[in-house]
Amino acid sequence: MEPVLGIDFGTTNTSAAWFDQTGRLKVVPVTDKSAVLPSVVWFPSADSTKCLVGQAAKTQLVDDAKHTLFGTKRFIGRRFNSEYVSQHKGRFAFDLVEGADGYTAALIYGQMIPLVDVATVIVKDIVAKATRAAKHPFTQCVMTVPAHASVRQREAVRRAAEHAGLTVRAIVNEPTAAALFYANLRSPKQTVLIFDLGGGTFDATLLRVEARVVKVLATGGDAFLGGSDFDERLADAFAAHLEQTSGVSVRESRTVMQRLALAAEYAKIQLSRAEIVDVRVPVVAQRPDGSFVDLQKKLTRDEMEQIVAPLVERCISACDDLLGRAKLRPEDIDELVLVGGQTRMPIVRKRLAHFPRLSSEKDVHPELGVAVGAAILGRNLSRTNASGLSDVVAMPISIMLPGGRSVEVIPSNTPVPCVKTITLDNLPTWSAPVPLLVFESLDQTSVDREIIGTVHISEEWRTTPNVTPSLELTVGQDFALTAKLLAPGGMQTQLQIVDHRR
Ligand code: AMP
Repeated sequence: MEPVLGIDFGTTNTSAAWFDQTGRLKVVPVTDKSAVLPSVVWFPSADSTKCLVGQAAKTQLVDDAKHTLFGTKRFIGRRFNSEYVSQHKGRFAFDLVEGADGYTAALIYGQMIPLVDVATVIVKDIVAKATRAAKHPFTQCVMTVPAHASVRQREAVRRAAEHAGLTVRAIVNEPTAAALFYANLRSPKQTVLIFDLGGGTFDATLLRVEARVVKVLATGGDAFLGGSDFDERLADAFAAHLEQTSGVSVRESRTVMQRLALAAEYAKIQLSRAEIVDVRVPVVAQRPDGSFVDLQKKLTRDEMEQIVAPLVERCISACDDLLGRAKLRPEDIDELVLVGGQTRMPIVRKRLAHFPRLSSEKDVHPELGVAVGAAILGRNLSRTNASGLSDVVAMPISIMLPGGRSVEVIPSNTPVPCVKTITLDNLPTWSAPVPLLVFESLDQTSVDREIIGTVHISEEWRTTPNVTPSLELTVGQDFALTAKLLAPGGMQTQLQIVDHRR
């Protein structure tokens, strides 16, 4: 039985775990003291094959910010002209550009680097560390993605693992992986809420654990909220402080804002233990007289909590919303499991005190639970081909008919695998194939949509008398989407969902 490597490729950190031949769980060591690899890549020169990954790259975030990529997972599989990329790209000192396929890429020394390639470099690095630790190569893996990842993002993560030489046995949602770990620990019969606040996303997942089988009841959260938003809020407050105390504005400089965000993250982490920290960032600007401005500020935990309070409240209201949809109250939740480094912030825990039981860090390590859950899934698959989980679709999948009318085919929270069929009546009769757009709603509060592809309905299908075609969409266990066109009398065609590129 070949071991399957469980890989949690995170926005901020990456970690991995596997079960060895004797059935013992192993977490991949990154350094003597740590099992997390910062998801950071530094390109010291224009030769993009020569790059550094992890802590060594992270130290370059200050000295060579323009060539040090971090947090790029937030942009992987996202169209460059999407609302999300437009809003966030200016926050980084490195350049993000539109790749040949319309998706976001990085520009390093004038060279376009697809973000899948950046992810590949990180995955390769953790796999090399795993190989060294296990003393044998790995050819199979389970990859994790945020529950809110779109079809495109899942595809991009799969490709990154494949380019790193791995066969992907499954792609699992991060909170579901954490739940598998949790179920394995206790094997209880319980209703559990996984509160997963990592570096880039917030997922809230409600599940039922029974006899070590995890059934996802519903997912919610906020795909646009993570620890780095906390850092950005604090960096904004630092910039405002600089403006007030020295009259200089640093907001226009991406490099300075990135340095402030790094200092913010450092202060934020310290304030999870300390009540007050000294924030110092030297030489952030120059006055007209030539003298330099340093950021120097004492920040208390109270002050920080006030600055980030709106973000914490967004998490809490997303949880309330999820519970409301499931018609449950906090008292009905047997255990709230905190996952993701950002949940170490005391205010997050304090705001969740109305839940009867909060899992402790001892039970579920906030940063490693996801990788271990992926390893458990890998072990289950290689033993029995059964996953031990049932997951749900996070975002609705719809079609758009010519003229702009859209119809939801697969609602969110539908268990996977699933097959849904919709009758296609009143199709236009013009003599050319009619295109149907298949899309995912990325955010229920806005019109941001990810076009997954176009299905063309040929004229024959619309002109055969007494035949009304219907479209069948199937979402597999690993969220792969396929479409089939059907009509009474056994006519059917398997449709390729055509990649929609501009
Ligand atoms: P993850 O994606 O689970 O690795 O979480 C990364 C996020 O957790 C980053 O935004 C970190 O700044 C944040 N984080 C890590 N440790 C702490 C801590 N002790 N207190 C607050 N935030 C933390």
